[in-house]
Amino acid sequence: MSDDPNRCKAMVRSPYLLDAYQCKRKPGYGKDGWYCKQHAQEAIDAKREAGVAAIEVCRMLLENHPDDLDARILAKAIIDKLDKASKENG
Ligand SMILES: [Zn+2]
Repeated sequence: MSDDPNRCKAMVRSPYLLDAYQCKRKPGYGKDGWYCKQHAQEAIDAKREAGVAAIEVCRMLLENHPDDLDARILAKAIIDKLDKASKENG
């Protein structure tokens, strides 16, 4: 499937079609202005939720493996990265 540059890049699943199709809304939002307002916001929300979930996993890892230095370094690195990303994205 080829991308239409005049349309949002998000793929949408319809309950009536087997295949996903490209969103029909006008782009101009999100990464490089590729998405419509709604999908740009959904992408931000999804990223934020994924970040929150990842931090939870890292915290659990730290609690359950306080003596595992590798786990601590990895968890700390992930938490720092997500903290930084969430500040950059507002
Ligand atoms: Zn869209």
